[in-house]
Amino acid sequence: MYDVTEIRKDFPILSREVNGKPLVYLDNGASAQKPQVVIDAITQAYSFEYANVHRGLHYLSNLATDKYEAVRGTVQKFLNAAHEDEILFTSGTTEALNMISYAWAAPKLQAGDEIILSVMEHHANIVPWHFLRERQGVVLKWVDTDVNGDLDPQAVIDAIGPKTKIIAITHMSNVLGTVVDVKSICTAARARGVPVVVDGSQSSVHMPVDVQDIGCDFFAITGHKLYGPTASGALYVRRDRMAEMRPFMGGGDMIREVSRDVITYNDPPHKFESGTPGIVQMIGMGVALNYMMGLGMGNIATHEHILRDYAQTKLSGLNWLNIQGNSETKGAIFSFTLDGAGHPHDISTVVDQRGIAVRAGHHCAQPLMQHLGVTATCRASFGLYNTTEEVDKLVDALELCHDLFA
Ligand code: PLP
Repeated sequence: MYDVTEIRKDFPILSREVNGKPLVYLDNGASAQKPQVVIDAITQAYSFEYANVHRGLHYLSNLATDKYEAVRGTVQKFLNAAHEDEILFTSGTTEALNMISYAWAAPKLQAGDEIILSVMEHHANIVPWHFLRERQGVVLKWVDTDVNGDLDPQAVIDAIGPKTKIIAITHMSNVLGTVVDVKSICTAARARGVPVVVDGSQSSVHMPVDVQDIGCDFFAITGHKLYGPTASGALYVRRDRMAEMRPFMGGGDMIREVSRDVITYNDPPHKFESGTPGIVQMIGMGVALNYMMGLGMGNIATHEHILRDYAQTKLSGLNWLNIQGNSETKGAIFSFTLDGAGHPHDISTVVDQRGIAVRAGHHCAQPLMQHLGVTATCRASFGLYNTTEEVDKLVDALELCHDLFA
């Protein structure tokens, strides 16, 4: 049974106060808090088990290497990848998506080739493709969301043409919470030989993910949203696609031999991981993923669906609150503006006085803001430790904002 009261005890920060009130942390979409097991693993690694990986023949280096490399198997299990060597370690989703752009796409794409994006992508899944537009004349083709914030998979499929070389799509919007039917997109794209990049930064936090079932070519996750350390993450690359990739960053570890005239590369996945990595961060991420799998991804999803339904009912009862995106598939992420209220920053400042952490701004999704006709929203994003009582506190604080600003 999923006991949220007990689970909250795993997260020391949740017992603190902010502005004299118990912390209500609703900024999980930006970054999630860390359970004690992750904090302990980091302390243990730095205190007693630290050395550089892969290079040493001494005890500590081997120990650190074993712990670090074991995380590959953990990510494989978390994503249900077919092979451990399909998992690349990254510093997060931004690095992962840039890697695909530089390592897979840049050598293959030519002027006039097309990349399909949805309008609700995070800048991390836009800017690396803009680089190819600027530098190589690649064309970006945008697919809009409908009035509910849904992305019709058929609209994405219909956008595929003879020049389409990549589809890069989010699995879950960090602004609207919309969950995209990436499986249908992948099935159709594969039949046409078009690879699909899935940004799983948000979805992987809230639901079980099976990359084999989805049928994607690339799937990116980020440790700091998965209750793990910052600067940790992973990129799933299906074996056949990894074989097509050119090394991205050059340096130590990714080579087999270097001479004055030639270099030979290490085997994948190491061929794509150069320099000293985030050793302790990755070890911490492995512990975080095991923590989540221990709770059960299905159980986390069920808990968050209860929160979503509760929040949806409560928030839609506030007739002066404009909720952006009402997809039936949405997760527990709510973006909104208030009638008559100033900038969403004002809302976040007022609710912060009540100990409630929400985010305001464009959420690194400016094309979506333009599509919605707003410059910014306020966003409450829920995680595995949030409660319906916290939804009530948010609603009370928003009512205060309404009284103040209306
Ligand atoms: N994609 C989405 C949907 C996100 O929400 C984020 C982070 O906010 C990113 C990409 C960027 O991830 P990272 O912080 O790991 O670079």
